[in-house]
Amino acid sequence: MAEVIVVPSSSGEGSYEIEVKQSVNGIQLICNCPAGQFGKSCKHKLKILNVALGIDNGAELAGNISSVGKLVAASRLPALVKDLVESERALEAAKKVVNRAKKNLERHMFIGA
Ligand SMILES: [Zn+2]
Repeated sequence: MAEVIVVPSSSGEGSYEIEVKQSVNGIQLICNCPAGQFGKSCKHKLKILNVALGIDNGAELAGNISSVGKLVAASRLPALVKDLVESERALEAAKKVVNRAKKNLERHMFIGA
């Protein structure tokens, strides 16, 4: 079973098609955008996952989203998305620590440490 979801491109010109199909290990998402064709987690695939997980309403998407949502829910993808979101949060927190240390160093160099 395969579903095709159409996602408008962010430039507003044209759209991309993401094929979602069951595989031996779960589900596959294949997008026909340049990044997606190389297996990258392009924004179109992430958009579909966010809609399937209820993070985004996906009003601009075309296709059988509810069917895709069921496939996603039954796969390992929700746990992997959660891992990605938590990793991105940790990265943002680490960036704040680095920026604070950099500002502290700059301040001390400016006033004379
Ligand atoms: Zn894509």
